[in-house]
Amino acid sequence: MDFRALIKEEVLAQKAYPVDNTSCRIKLDANENPLAMPEELWEQFAALLASVPLNRYPEAGSVTLKSRFAKTFGLEAEQVMLGNGSDELIQILYTALARPGAEVMIPVPTFAMYRISGLNNGFRIAEVPLDDRFDLDLAAMRGRAASHPPVLTFLAYPNNPTGNCFSRERIDAILREASGIVVVDEAYFHFAQKTFLPLPGRRENLVILRTLSKVGLAALRVALLIGPADLVHELNKVRLPYNLNSLSQAAAGFYLDNEGAFLEQAAKIREWRDELTSAMGLLPGIRIYPTDANFVFFCCAFDADRVYRQLKERGILIRNFNAPGAMRGFMRVTVGTREENSEFVEVLRDILTE
Ligand code: PMP
Repeated sequence: MDFRALIKEEVLAQKAYPVDNTSCRIKLDANENPLAMPEELWEQFAALLASVPLNRYPEAGSVTLKSRFAKTFGLEAEQVMLGNGSDELIQILYTALARPGAEVMIPVPTFAMYRISGLNNGFRIAEVPLDDRFDLDLAAMRGRAASHPPVLTFLAYPNNPTGNCFSRERIDAILREASGIVVVDEAYFHFAQKTFLPLPGRRENLVILRTLSKVGLAALRVALLIGPADLVHELNKVRLPYNLNSLSQAAAGFYLDNEGAFLEQAAKIREWRDELTSAMGLLPGIRIYPTDANFVFFCCAFDADRVYRQLKERGILIRNFNAPGAMRGFMRVTVGTREENSEFVEVLRDILTE
């Protein structure tokens, strides 16, 4: 049977999200926290997970956990929705807003799932290149919005892969002027410590995404959407009833009980990031860009594919964005532990100078 004849054109036309599953000694490709959960928490965590009744469905809508998160943000539970990672929340937004002809505006380069999920849901994708400082090109965004008003705009704050936070004034202008929903994706909040919260008093069209993935719990797939209660009410109709499994719900509650320990790790990562950028700044043939996130975006004057391959051969996995055109030579490295970062810098120096 020719399945391709049955499948939507939007799906046939695209590639699946690229994940390099190569197991590497030093894994610096996916913007994860390099540290395991602090050892003093293990026993308590294991006991909690062991107490989860696996024969029962999870709590639908993660009501208890949602209320706890809402409280930490000073919000009503009705303004919050939990998702199986931000990826699911992005998908839920698209599914709910996918009226025929709907358009999404995405400044590029940015997080790949905005485009992939948009295409899967039949959206027209308006990609607007960032300016030469990787900030929003307001004139270009306004121009596109005037002729094709987007129902959704995704702004990663800080942006992935460029690492910077777009300027606040420009985001405020987009929020003021947009007729659709503007999503500010704060996946890297713990490293930038800048936010568009608190929500109350802000514009009605603002939705914020947060995740536990970058702060140490990527395996759990837990993320939050914060937005106006009447929007969240509609989005809840699209969400699968048991989208967050019981182990993840329990573990996310444990995170809230022990948040300080995770925030200490984030503080260490910020410190290591600054050491890494200083060391990378001294390498020949490398241009690094300022970062507010837990990764560094850089451009390599040498053959980036070769550099990527040679790093991999020596057990270090980073993310290669090298492609003809605007992305030529670009790569991204996640901040690892101090030791991993030093080894990365040493190996990269060897490769660049050999
Ligand atoms: N938003 C941005 C900007 C990201 O970079 C990522 C992870 N690469 C995500 C969302 C996905 O986060 P989650 O693990 O919560 O799905």
